Amino acid sequence: CGIVGYVGSGASVDVLMSGLSRLEYRGYDSAGVAVIDAEGGLYTRKRAGKLAVLAGDLEASPLPESHVGIGHTRWATHGGPTDVNAHPHLGDEGKLALIHNGIIENFAVLKAELVEAGYTFESETDTEVAAVLLGREYRETGDLLAAFRAVVNRFEGAFTLLAVHRDQPNLVVGARRNSPLVIGLGDGENFLGSDVAAFIEYTRSALAIGQDQIVAITPDAVEVTDFDGNVVEVEPFEVEWDA
Ligand code: GLU
Repeated sequence: CGIVGYVGSGASVDVLMSGLSRLEYRGYDSAGVAVIDAEGGLYTRKRAGKLAVLAGDLEASPLPESHVGIGHTRWATHGGPTDVNAHPHLGDEGKLALIHNGIIENFAVLKAELVEAGYTFESETDTEVAAVLLGREYRETGDLLAAFRAVVNRFEGAFTLLAVHRDQPNLVVGARRNSPLVIGLGDGENFLGSDVAAFIEYTRSALAIGQDQIVAITPDAVEVTDFDGNVVEVEPFEVEWDA
């Protein structure tokens, strides 16, 4: 139900948790984060319940220092509100993590195709199908952005998707269809959010992502294209906010 992405020089777990807490007002039943550390390790932590449950878990057993990651609050639609069904979900044998807002209507058809090809699933979510399909495509291309372009048109319904891959540790890629996504522009850092509340604490300079568009953020650049890879011009705007 809420989405945050971060890449920069800040402590990503802190940035993600602060963004998620600003999105709490939307309601949710589970929360999770995935981050990549300097050694290229991908770490995921996710828990059913309030953000405080996840925060307590992270405090008791902190993740390694990291500067890139994604965070999610879930409003369960497919699969009950359990730790396993919470996002992020993994693909490419645990090297890729993905979060999702919305519903992938045709997930059962895609899942059957993947099961047929020998893939296994841990959760009951529509989201894990997207993670596994994206992971399979990553293995073909070795490029997260190219993998996104190859799969997004196969998803029907509503989705905001964000993913990171441990082999591309300075990059967060996202896509949206019938579900919102905004970029927050920082100085040597960039943000993604399901709404501006996700990054308002850090920047008020934002870019709105249009329908059926893909975005890639690194610490110093953002690129927005349509689902076919054509670059799109996006208009910056200043977020007005009384904190
Ligand atoms: N359909 C997904 C799920 O049930 C995402 C729900 C959401 O938007 O949080 O896991």
